[in-house]
Amino acid sequence: MKRVYNFSAGPAVLPEEVLQQAADEMLDYQGCGMSVMEMSHRSKVYDTIIKEAEQDLRDLLQIPDNYKVLFLQGGASLLFATIPMNLMKNRKAGYIITGQWAKKAAAEAKMYGEVVELASSADETFSYIPDCSDLDITEDMDYVYICENNTIYGTKFKKLPNTKGKTLVADVSSCFLSEPMDVSKYGVIYAGVQKNVGPAGTQIVIIREDLISDDVLPYTPTMMRFKTHAENDSLYNTPPCYGIYICGLVFKWLKKNGGLTAMQKRNEEKAKILYDYLDQSELFRGTVRKEDRSLMNVPFVTDNQELDAKFVAEAKAAGFENLKGHRSVGGMRASIYNAMPKEGVEALVAFMKKFEEENK
Ligand SMILES: *Cc1c(COP(=O)(O)O)cnc(C)c1O
Repeated sequence: MKRVYNFSAGPAVLPEEVLQQAADEMLDYQGCGMSVMEMSHRSKVYDTIIKEAEQDLRDLLQIPDNYKVLFLQGGASLLFATIPMNLMKNRKAGYIITGQWAKKAAAEAKMYGEVVELASSADETFSYIPDCSDLDITEDMDYVYICENNTIYGTKFKKLPNTKGKTLVADVSSCFLSEPMDVSKYGVIYAGVQKNVGPAGTQIVIIREDLISDDVLPYTPTMMRFKTHAENDSLYNTPPCYGIYICGLVFKWLKKNGGLTAMQKRNEEKAKILYDYLDQSELFRGTVRKEDRSLMNVPFVTDNQELDAKFVAEAKAAGFENLKGHRSVGGMRASIYNAMPKEGVEALVAFMKKFEEENK
């Protein structure tokens, strides 16, 4: 068996230990004679799996009791609609546009109400996070929306916007569980798990209880009402059972490895290796304003498209997969999520040094 260093932005690398455990339990989950894939979501065994997953997540993020945890389906992209359908009581919300995902979320919300663009970094190809200390937030806005870590452009909010008392809604798909976060500062936190936590097909929503109600926009499907899932502990219908099980194993792996404070330290060390090299390289350069750099997604370029393509091809041949930048940006991007070992980043930097030596 040979595993590559996988720098994919998502679906992405998972802890090898977790994959091994899932493999060991594939045919016979803890003596029950069947796979987690084959068991009823109403069974006692599965009930323990989903409850433990929720509790471990609560422990990791220290989620306050007045927040619900929901395991949903439909991709993070479905939540672009679910959020306005459930929260736009005044049919007006503010969006901060820091990349493609925020843009898509805003475009979707426009179908349901007025979307005010509070700030944007489109003027410099989303290479920074705009100043959000004094935004034009009005009393009638239902919420303020951010994409906290911009997977494609590699920026991250290091400081949350001043929402002037309005509910903060955050898409944290690509930074979820990469570091501790203060859940109480948000109304809704959501993540597609395929970036940092598990297999595609599951979304996790952490929502303050007072935001869950029957007062939703007309024609909101039952399946898209937060209340439906909150009332039924994510078991209204068949949940993404196997995905939730893998997320649960990842939560246990995170706890075993010191929780989110330890993970943050590890992620900072890893990112520093790559950014330090980029800052002194004469061939490669990072594309993001330094103070806004993501710990998870690191875009870089050589300023020569042919050389970029050559680098991606040679890296692939050397066992470094998925380094090509997003189709909308070009260049390269190394996604170095929780499960990417430090050795993977060190090996990548060693390879980049060699490439620089050979191509300068
Ligand atoms: C990947 C991603 C999405 C879209 O996720 P899907 O599950 O494919 O819909 C949304 N937001 C962010 C920040 C992402 O990284």
